[in-house]
Amino acid sequence: MSGSVDNAGVHELFPEPVSSWIRVAVDRPIDVGGDGLTYAAGPDLGELQPGDPVVVPLGRGNARTGGWVVAECERPRDTAAIKHVLARGETPPIPQDLVALGRWMARYYLAPLGPTLSGLVPAPVKRGTGGVVRRMLEPVAAAEPPARLGPAQRTILDVIGRLAPNALPIERKTLRDLAGVATYGPIDALVRHGLLTETKRTDIATAWQPHHLDVAAAPTPTEDQHAVINAIADSLGRGFHAHVLRGVTGSGKTEVYLRLIEQVLAAAGSVLVLVPEIALTPQTASRLAARFPSEQLAIMHSALPAAARHAHWQAARRGDARIVLGARSGVFAPIPPGKLGLIVVDEEHDASFKQDAAPRYHGRDVAIRRAATADCPILLCSATPSLETWHNAQARPDWSVHRLARRAPGLTVPRTRVVDIRKEIKADPGCGSIGPTLRAALHRTLDEGHQALLLLNRRGWATLLACADRRCGWSLQCDHCDVTMVFHRGSERAAPGFLRCHHCHREVRQPRTCPECGGRVLRQGAGTQRVEEDVLAMRPDLEEGHSLIRMDSDSMQHIDRFQRVLSRFQSGEVRVLLGTQMIAKGLDVPGVRLVGVIDADTSMHMPDFRASERTFQLISQVTGRCGRSETAGDAIVQTRDPDAPSIVLAAAGQAERFLESELAQRHEAGLPPATRMARVLIADEQLTRCDADAARLADAIGVLAGPGDEIMGPMPCPIPRIRARHRREVLLTSPNAGSLQRWVHAALGEGLLAAPTVSVDIDPISLL
Ligand code: ADP
Ligand code: ZN
Ligand code: ZN
Repeated sequence: MSGSVDNAGVHELFPEPVSSWIRVAVDRPIDVGGDGLTYAAGPDLGELQPGDPVVVPLGRGNARTGGWVVAECERPRDTAAIKHVLARGETPPIPQDLVALGRWMARYYLAPLGPTLSGLVPAPVKRGTGGVVRRMLEPVAAAEPPARLGPAQRTILDVIGRLAPNALPIERKTLRDLAGVATYGPIDALVRHGLLTETKRTDIATAWQPHHLDVAAAPTPTEDQHAVINAIADSLGRGFHAHVLRGVTGSGKTEVYLRLIEQVLAAAGSVLVLVPEIALTPQTASRLAARFPSEQLAIMHSALPAAARHAHWQAARRGDARIVLGARSGVFAPIPPGKLGLIVVDEEHDASFKQDAAPRYHGRDVAIRRAATADCPILLCSATPSLETWHNAQARPDWSVHRLARRAPGLTVPRTRVVDIRKEIKADPGCGSIGPTLRAALHRTLDEGHQALLLLNRRGWATLLACADRRCGWSLQCDHCDVTMVFHRGSERAAPGFLRCHHCHREVRQPRTCPECGGRVLRQGAGTQRVEEDVLAMRPDLEEGHSLIRMDSDSMQHIDRFQRVLSRFQSGEVRVLLGTQMIAKGLDVPGVRLVGVIDADTSMHMPDFRASERTFQLISQVTGRCGRSETAGDAIVQTRDPDAPSIVLAAAGQAERFLESELAQRHEAGLPPATRMARVLIADEQLTRCDADAARLADAIGVLAGPGDEIMGPMPCPIPRIRARHRREVLLTSPNAGSLQRWVHAALGEGLLAAPTVSVDIDPISLL
């Protein structure tokens, strides 16, 4: 070490030995988009690997701070300022491939490195929740038993000598039970005599048990499925390739990936399956468990009990569970190095894959990155692929598209009718949320003993409380957010109800009269609670909470309740299931003969360039929930805009025409996926400061623009104020991901994005 040459002062007098220079991701929200802080590591720490936890001094006060090694680095030029790692940390190391993924995420999404790495490992794993220390015993082979052994000791040696080799080491308690001795005394004595050795092993208390194991016979793939399976199977074990599987709803996409998983397992590989919602995991889990009854399944999502989360993580880490199923964060599953053979992203178009807090990552995109680094194929499945995926599939050489154009055997194509709600209301002014066409179809369906699904993507009873006098124009707005408050009926029928802000969750009581003019107030715009009442009024034979169930995030706080409702719907007990987009996803119930979309326009007029894509996806997905049996099903779509291309093409099942025309429009408008976007959000309680900062920021970022880069704004966000903070945005678009990264990192380097009021969303999905 030449430290004593260029170091002055205390370091020279008491030089601490340094064996390596490392970069450490400290677990603090600093180092945004960075790659770790440099520290010196002494030889007492042993060899440090990327992902190893360490404790380091941080800041002026040298606060002891946890972190992870990200890499070894060159000896810094000025070593005087470099601090020393204090100790190794206690948490389990982060697998090295995940460290690489986390470093990429922090850079790409402009997130702080330490918290990003920290987020790759579930909290119960870091805390060691559910871990039990087991004391394991083994006989010492060469040991000669002393002449004087007690009878209990002799029995124990006898028992352990007769155990099959794979039963060793044996847990202390098990050995005691087998030997039938009353205390641990004789065992401990044998350890002291050197006849047994004891080691400690930390195990996780609960191991996963599949709920039900009705083994399902695999259906014979259709010719179409067969072709797709073969085409994708050809790429297994041969490096990265992205396969886009566009198959109409019910075409047997799941069946395709079950077959591929079978092949990966046969080749000793592991697979990672991602679904967009936690609520969808039990359904997919039972299909996987039924098809692969001898495989252990690891399930990764935040709604599992802490000990189970730990257990599943460890099972994946050890390679005991070769099938890993997860929601968004499942993409960080600790699959043993070199084992990942295939990643499946089901419903890849789903916006739930995007995390709306830092790091604002997209689970699908991180999965693509992970497949590329693990050098394995990835399969992106959807009936309605995202424009991003469709664009990539056409633009990139290592992407391909596969198609399943027909529904699986035994399923029929739903007949979809689009009805103009304005004409419906004219025909029957008192019809409420359910027009005469949908009403007649619902009666017929229920009279014939079948089931119906009703979709409305709006919670509550009424979306708006407004003055009955149009000239007055008053409506109830949240005090803290620039949105109208939503009227909710109380859980008790007789309770008066209240208004709630869906952004800050504030609640107020309903004013009896208009505070502006003293006139009457009206509730407008139906939500799911209102539809529930309309259905009950129309079918008094239905029973709320039994044969009629409303399912939205108000009523489904718990995943178990969601599962119970789904199985009651499956069994036929629930006749009408009514809900928000939760019910549009992945439901496969043969008894459904009618799907009603109460209002297809909820997402269409959003101030968001993806509004028509969302509308198309929602309608295609929900109408695909019927016709899952031999008899055809009907779908009825109520809209004010029956000629909107997203609605017409969804109803006609023309996904690729929609994708092509939408893609052409995005190219024309210079919007993603034709370009890449970053959204810079400025949120501040003070309006003038917010405006001034936004203007300054836009100017400064604009100066850094490269060729083809475009800047929009500053402008108020579509919701200009949330939780009493004013919101301004600057949208950046750039020809490709590389050029956008150059731009935002230039801005980061200039310190433009450091203020706590500023946040950046790369590839934003929600533009509210
Ligand atoms: P998707 O994932 O495309 O919506 P699924 O894989 O869920 O479609 O298939 C829909 C239904 O059709 C399921 O009940 C599935 O078991 C069944 N199915 C799929 N492929 C076949 C096949 N080749 N023969 C018979 N039934 C099939
Ligand atoms: Zn609010
Ligand atoms: Zn009024």
